Amino acid sequence: MKLLYKILLWNIVIVAVCLGIGGYSFINFVFQTSLERETKQALDESSILQFAFETAALNIPSRYDVLQDTTIEEIGYSLERGGQNNGTRMLHISDEQQETLYLGDGFEVDEEFLVQIPNDSKIYQLREIQGRYYIHTGCKMKALDRVLYLETLKDITLIYEERKEGFAVYRRVIFFVLLCATIVMYLICRWLTKPIRLLTMATRKMSEGDYGYRARVMSNDEMGQLTTDFNLMANALEDNIALLEDEIRTREEFIGAFAHELKTPLTAIIGYADMLRSRKLDEEKAFVSANYIFTEGKRLEAMAFRLLDIIVTKRLEIEKQRVDTKKIFSYLRELYGGYSQIKVMCQYEPAVVLAESDLLKSVLINLVDNACKASQEGGKVEILGRKQKNGYLFAVKDYGMGIAEEEYDKIINAFYMVDKSRSRSKNGAGLGLALCVEILKLHDSHLRIESKLGEGSCFSFVIPWKEVNGNETEPES
Ligand code: ADP
Repeated sequence: MKLLYKILLWNIVIVAVCLGIGGYSFINFVFQTSLERETKQALDESSILQFAFETAALNIPSRYDVLQDTTIEEIGYSLERGGQNNGTRMLHISDEQQETLYLGDGFEVDEEFLVQIPNDSKIYQLREIQGRYYIHTGCKMKALDRVLYLETLKDITLIYEERKEGFAVYRRVIFFVLLCATIVMYLICRWLTKPIRLLTMATRKMSEGDYGYRARVMSNDEMGQLTTDFNLMANALEDNIALLEDEIRTREEFIGAFAHELKTPLTAIIGYADMLRSRKLDEEKAFVSANYIFTEGKRLEAMAFRLLDIIVTKRLEIEKQRVDTKKIFSYLRELYGGYSQIKVMCQYEPAVVLAESDLLKSVLINLVDNACKASQEGGKVEILGRKQKNGYLFAVKDYGMGIAEEEYDKIINAFYMVDKSRSRSKNGAGLGLALCVEILKLHDSHLRIESKLGEGSCFSFVIPWKEVNGNETEPES
């Protein structure tokens, strides 16, 4: 059953029970009050009749002061019809032996009640006779020499009928009130449960793949808060899904590029190897073929190591140490000092940076290698180290071929090469910068590329640093 109908049903049940109990109690209260009033009236009337009877008995002349049975009957008759009696009062008068002396029309004698009448007080009971209701009172009275029983029956059917009529009217009122309440409550419940319906719709849409769908916030209450939170959760979910999709796409591209990069050298290796085993080649051709197999094999090996580096780096958690920049630059100077075609110069300010020494060297070597590859013979490459407010800046600058601006984002992707044949001829596989990016991520840093086609490039990044004594600027090496 829907929540809306559950709330509605419970409301109707509660309202119906409350109205039923309330109405029943009220009508019964009115009835009891009327009954008490009628009972008091009946007892008062009984006293008045007793007094009237005793007075009448005294005033009727009789022989030897004896009250005759016929006289009692006459008085009873006149009392029953006298006063304001409109047929709702009946009398029964009986003697000491409870023998009837006067019996009003329709009075049904109750022997048990008669014997219970005490000497000095009145008693009463409620009776139903032939579908009508009465208050039956009884008392003892003394008139001249006689002790008599006086009983009255007062018709109170009217108040029972009034109660019955009251219940019937109230039933109709309850029905009407419930009908109106049901309509009003239905509209209120629909309005209150609207945010739930909107949320349900949003979850359904999202489960069908529409991650951009959001539920409308309708109020500032708890439901509004829930909807806002749901939308926030949906935003986070959408972002995560976009990220995952992006990652899947990147991986697919990576695998595609990897397969392609493997295929090219392997095809050449297989081709040359086949030629070597199936034909008898002269010495020079055999050397060229073997050399090709060797260089392509070396390239594949380098690629495999780089790939391994990237994968390991992605999973790595580094422990940063204090690294003296002097040591780094000395190492680079030694490494590239023997280059004859390209001049590699180091210029730096000494400082201590927080980094993983080998990984930092790896980044710089990759960048310097790329710079050398991009430079003409006789060109120069600068490796710079500068202290800045936000950290220590490393920059590798060349005056070579440069990169077009639209390539900036692409060259950091694995296997991407601007000029494939040129890169391959220089043992490139498009993995160097991808590795640099991963290593810099571990150092909470990123690679900055500035370049102009035909003018050269500058690859830089910033690492946290600490001051050491004195500044040092190295001349060209
Ligand atoms: P590779 O192993 O091919 O050098 P990288 O990821 O290091 O792979 O570089 C990707 C591509 O970016 C290179 O193929 C090259 O085209 C371009 N590139 C990198 N550094 C430079 C540079 N200093 N000047 C010009 N092009 C560069």
